[in-house]
Amino acid sequence: MKSHVAFLPSPGMGHMIPLFQLAKKLTLQHGFRVSFIVITTGASAAQNQFFHSAAAISPHLSIINLPAADVSGVISEEMRVVTQIAVIARESLKPLKPILAELKPSSLVVDIFTTDAIDTCTDLRIPVYSFFTASTALLTLSLYLPTLDREVEGEYVDLPAPVEIPGCRNMPTADLLDQVKDRTNDEYKWYLLHVSRLPYTAGILVNAWDDLDQQRIKALTENPFFKNLPTPPIYPVGPLIKDDEILTEKDATILAWLDSQPRESVLFVCLGSGGTLSSRQLIELAAGLELSRQRFLLVARPPTDASGAGAYFSVGSGGGEDADGLSVYFPDGFLDRTRGVGLVVPAWAPQMAVLRHRSTGGFLSHCGWNSTLESLVCGVPMIAWPLYAEQRMNATMLVEEVGVAVKVVADAEAEVIGREEIGRVVRAVMEGEEGKVIRRRAGELKENALKASENGGGLSRFVDICHLDI
Ligand code: UDP
Repeated sequence: MKSHVAFLPSPGMGHMIPLFQLAKKLTLQHGFRVSFIVITTGASAAQNQFFHSAAAISPHLSIINLPAADVSGVISEEMRVVTQIAVIARESLKPLKPILAELKPSSLVVDIFTTDAIDTCTDLRIPVYSFFTASTALLTLSLYLPTLDREVEGEYVDLPAPVEIPGCRNMPTADLLDQVKDRTNDEYKWYLLHVSRLPYTAGILVNAWDDLDQQRIKALTENPFFKNLPTPPIYPVGPLIKDDEILTEKDATILAWLDSQPRESVLFVCLGSGGTLSSRQLIELAAGLELSRQRFLLVARPPTDASGAGAYFSVGSGGGEDADGLSVYFPDGFLDRTRGVGLVVPAWAPQMAVLRHRSTGGFLSHCGWNSTLESLVCGVPMIAWPLYAEQRMNATMLVEEVGVAVKVVADAEAEVIGREEIGRVVRAVMEGEEGKVIRRRAGELKENALKASENGGGLSRFVDICHLDI
């Protein structure tokens, strides 16, 4: 009999993609039957397109759409994103029990905001594993959070010293996850609620591998604090990154442009699936790229403060906007002066195909965890420009621990990062000595990531345990 694992990702492509990669691996490489249960409430066009093509992957991988929940009375515009996601997940999971009772999976893999399923599975005697899709650094902070919550009064950001997570490097308060920076906000309460349940799972899967974050993985498994929580077994199943992208005609043009550029000469500038800058910052970024005199591929979006930006602009693959339409947001004549040396792409680019391309020599990234892993797997050195969520701690790790990135230095007094600093850091990575050092290190990490994928590591252990759960 095949082992049957069900997956329950939180809403949002940043969660769906790594869970789906794991689901695919279990089906195609390890002979599992998989049920992938999808929250459809508020699904984006990108999500619908993604699962449309996913259905044909294998007869042993079924997509099960949960009925759309009516959230009109419980969601409001003023709610922060995490609160909205948590409320959508809570409402969407209400009909879960009969669905699981009928499917009878041998185990369920939940995600950070779908832990309501733990109680349901206890009733049905189904073991639950959690897939933590962010960095190990955030996992250690998250498991430590209930303790911090009990022991610290006031805001963590006001603490006089960095947060001391047992067995781990101290975390500067500026690097803390945005969602824990204001304890009075609902999103803090939701986050705390969900991470407090992690110790009640049968195991935690993390998208990392032993060599990438040895110290924290060791802390999670051996440090007395984590052992006593108790922390369930940790399975470092990474790197799990998307291995296929549906390429549009627009994507083909981007790749053709890269084909005509010299080897490792192009800086790819992309701030994740939803990252946007203020109009002043976008102007400085463009001017800095121009000042650097380096080749670049810039994924550009209307600035956060552009009037009506939210109304006509929807991020996602396949956006057909025109780069010239964005020219109003750049310095005068920028697109004309940089034509040939730079390519500005509106909204979205096929990131994996770009990172894999031989002409790509650097990646200016917001350091989202998926982007980070994709860059590491492709061996591309990075410029770290963290924007929100846990990206600051990822950036610090990439610069200070892994050694594959250079951070953009923000002037504490200034509202934006200036063009001179941007030009400096771009030159440093693309043609400076610092660039050579981090490029070499990125090459080593690429080999290391490949080895981790081949060896199976935590993934093999997880596969073995799932077979036992039948
Ligand atoms: N991505 C992409 N093209 C873009 C922007 C983003 O393919 O133009 C993909 C990227 O490859 C990654 C995901 O979107 O898989 C972004 O995830 P990440 O965790 O880095 O950041 P988030 O979007 O969650 O902030």
